[in-house]
This record gives sequence, structure tokens and C-alpha cells, in this order.
Amino acid sequence: MTEEIRICIASRGKPEELAESFRSELPGAQVFTDPAALDETPVPYVVAGKPAPGVIASVPGAELILSLNAGVEHLLAPGEVPEGVDIVRLVDPAMTEGMSDWCLAVVLSWHRNLPLYRADKGWNRRTEILSRNRVVTVLGAGALGSRVARLLAQIGFQTRVWSRTGRAVEGAEAFAGPDGLDAATRGADAVVNLLPLTDETRDVLDAALFARMAPGGFVASAGRGEHLVDADLLAALDSGQLSGAALDVFRTEPLPEDDPLRAHPNVLVTPHVAAPTQAGSAVRIMADTIRRHRAGAPIPDLVDRRRGY
Ligand code: NDP
Repeated sequence: MTEEIRICIASRGKPEELAESFRSELPGAQVFTDPAALDETPVPYVVAGKPAPGVIASVPGAELILSLNAGVEHLLAPGEVPEGVDIVRLVDPAMTEGMSDWCLAVVLSWHRNLPLYRADKGWNRRTEILSRNRVVTVLGAGALGSRVARLLAQIGFQTRVWSRTGRAVEGAEAFAGPDGLDAATRGADAVVNLLPLTDETRDVLDAALFARMAPGGFVASAGRGEHLVDADLLAALDSGQLSGAALDVFRTEPLPEDDPLRAHPNVLVTPHVAAPTQAGSAVRIMADTIRRHRAGAPIPDLVDRRRGY
């Protein structure tokens, strides 16, 4: 049955390695790594990294786009994936684990003043606060946000979680929709952003949100750079309204050498490494999706174009 499977990898990073993994997961599959070299024979499955604009739309007979990323805003841009072609985003427990590690690392580090002690190198005892006395808000209760919120709650933080529909997360207080954002972030000591980038979530991390937080708060963002109003963050840090930030994603990546976020002493910059795609598990998940598609079974994690994620 797998003999006729035709897959095209449209990715700027290591397509040959991915192709080899697909061939071993789906023996007999024909896997192409150069979309420009395809003839007119239909290729139903396109594995999409972040190829040059228009490349995905050029693949003949595409039926299903399998995203190598959890975020799919680039695939929803005009001219990218033709109407009627389904997009599956990557939901991978390995990615969720990586993201949880990053979020817990930066929140706990800030919570226990570790950056300050590293800078002090002395014997300057800071006020140490128990997790039970801190409020942490997670923006996004999806594959990533729900696990992060659950773990933060298990550690003992007073945890809130904000989503479009008010999705419940064990141990956390759930808030929904535009009206819920105010209550979700009011008085929060830390805010962790794990939202997808949509027209509704762009610029969500702005001066108004920082002003609602408790003074001296902390912001971590691993969603997308366009969620953050950079100038508002810098102003909140300089005024002391915020005491620190950890950022993994930026409006321009790589973050330019002279970007003020790099120079700010209270900003931790990581180079979009919070939850990199794990090729091995990602290919296994995508191969399973292809098998399901061929069997006519329901496909999990389909993107809803109207929602934007
Ligand atoms: P999901 O689609 O599983 O979850 C998205 C969550 O955001 C859902 O809870 C959804 O609400 C909520 N949401 C969406 N729109 C709104 C809105 N307008 N208002 C309030 N809540 C909203 O995504 P993932 O958890 O898998 O991934 C989230 C993002 O993380 C990705 O889109 C990507 O940008 C980023 N990411 C970053 C990585 C990195 O290395 N830095 C790696 C992987 C992902 P509801 O539950 O109601 O639908």
C-alpha cells in the first residue's frame, strides 16, 4: 500500500535527512527534496518547514500539508497554501517537554533571584518568596501552555491560564477571551506567553498588560516575536514595573547585534531554542498522519484557518 505514497519536503533545513527518515518510516514511499524539480505527477503530501514564499503552492496535487512547526502563521499567509488544502500542525510530546523545560527554567531562575546572585557574586541576601505566594499566568492553554501551566501549579505557584475558550487545566484558574485577559494578568507576578501568532494575539504583550501585573514582575515569551511590543517591554523594565524578561522569539531572527533587547541587563535572550522540532519523533508523527489520511481516518491537529491556528 505504501508504494504509491509521494511526499515532498519543502524545507530549507536538512531535507535529505528528513527524507531518509520518511523512507524508513514508510518503506516504498517516494520522497522528493527539491520542489522545483517535480514534474506534473501529483504529490499529495508536503512536509513544510519554512520554505521560500510560494514553494508550497507550486507542488502539484498537494492534499495535506504537514507542518514541521507548531506555529503555522507563515503557512496561512496569502499565496502559501491553496484554499481547500488541509494543514496539520506539529503536536509532539517531545516538543512539549522541551518547551516545559525552558519555561520552568526561566520562571524558577527569576523566582529565586538566580540572575541577581550570578551578577552579585557576593553575599547579598535577597528576599526569597515561596512559590505559593507568587501568581503566574500562562497565555495559551494548548499543547504547550496546558502542560506548562499544570507543572507550574504542581510546583505550587498560584497559576492562571488564559485561552480563547477558557480551556481547563488541572490546578490552574482558567480565563477566557478578550474580557478574561484583564483578570488573568491583573496582579500577576509572572506572565508566560505560549500563544500562536494571529491577528488577535499580535502585540498582546504591551504596556497595558505590563502595567496590570504586580510591580517587579517577570515576562517570558516563547510564542512569537510579534506578540511583544519591544519598546513597551524595555520601558517597563527601565521603570522597574518589570524586573526581568526571558525571550526566545523576536520580530527579527536572528536578533540583530545592536538590538536594545540584547544589551538590556535584565533580559535573557535565547536564540529560538525553547522547543526545537525533534526530527525523529516529528517524522514518526507525520508518517502516522499520512497512514491515517490514506486510511480515511480522522486527522488530528488540523489547522482551523478561520481561527488562525
Ligand atoms: P495550540 O494551538 O495547541 O494552543 C494555542 C492556545 O492559544 C490555545 O489554548 C488557544 O485557545 C489559545 N489562543 C489562541 N488564540 C487566542 C486568543 N485570541 N485569545 C486567547 N487565547 C488564544 O498551540 P501550541 O501550544 O502547540 O503552540 C503555541 C505556540 O507556541 C505556537 O503557535 C508557536 O508560535 C509557539 N512555539 C514556539 C516554539 C519555540 O521554540 N519558541 C516551539 C513551538 C511552538 P483555545 O484552547 O481556546 O483554542
